[in-house]
Amino acid sequence: MNIILIAPPAAGKGTQSELICKKYNLNHLSTGDLLREVTIKDDEVSREIKDLMNKGMLISDDIILKLIENKIKDNDNFVFDGFPRNLNQAISFDTLLNNLNKKIDYVIYLKIDKQTALSRIVDRYVCPKCNSVYNLKDEVKICKNCSEQLIKRKDDNEETFNNRYDVYMNETYPVINYYKEKGILHEIDSSNTPDTIFNEIESIIGELW
Ligand code: ADP
Repeated sequence: MNIILIAPPAAGKGTQSELICKKYNLNHLSTGDLLREVTIKDDEVSREIKDLMNKGMLISDDIILKLIENKIKDNDNFVFDGFPRNLNQAISFDTLLNNLNKKIDYVIYLKIDKQTALSRIVDRYVCPKCNSVYNLKDEVKICKNCSEQLIKRKDDNEETFNNRYDVYMNETYPVINYYKEKGILHEIDSSNTPDTIFNEIESIIGELW
C-alpha cells in the first residue's frame, strides 16, 4: 500500500505519517527529512539547498525526483510526506510509478487554516536524531525516544512560515485537484487533536491491509 499525505506546513503530516507507518507497517518517506539529511554535508549543492529551505522555497524537481526514485525503486509500501509538492512532481511521479509497476492507494489531505498552522509552528520542536516532532510550551525539551535535546527547525519562524504557506497555496494546492479528479483524495479537518485525525485516517484505510 502507498499513501500520499498533502497539507500546508504544520498541519501534522509528520505526526500522522508516523502513526500510519506504525499501524500499517509502512515506510515513512519525508522529502523534508531526506533533504535535511543530504544537507548535513558542507558542499556547494548542500549550501544551495539549505539556503532555499531556510527561505521556504522549493528545491528543484529533478533533485527531488532522483531522491524519490532511489528510495522506492527497490522497496515498497510508503507514506509520502511532503511529496509531490507541485503539479510537475505529481505528473512525473505517476510516470515513475507506472514504470515501476506501483500505484498510490490513498491521498489524504490534512486541511488547516493559516492562523492555526502558524500557532503550531511557534511551539514546534524536533529531535535532531530521530526526527520526532513535539508541540511544547513550558515542558522540558527532551526527546522521549532517544533523550536528545530537542531543537527548533531553522525554517520554523514566522517569516519563513509565511513564505512556505504562500508556496503551498500557489504550488501544492493544485495537486489536491489533480488527485480529486483521479478519485483517490480524502479530506480531513486537521485542526483536531492527533488522535482524532488518526481515527479518521483509520476509518478511511480500514483494518484489512
Ligand atoms: P513543511 O511541510 O512543514 O513545510 P517539510 O519538512 O516537508 O516541511 O519541508 C521543508 C522544506 O524542504 C520545504 O520548505 C522545501 O524547501 C523543501 N522540500 C520538501 N519537500 C519538497 C519537495 N517535494 N519539493 C521541493 N522542495 C521540498
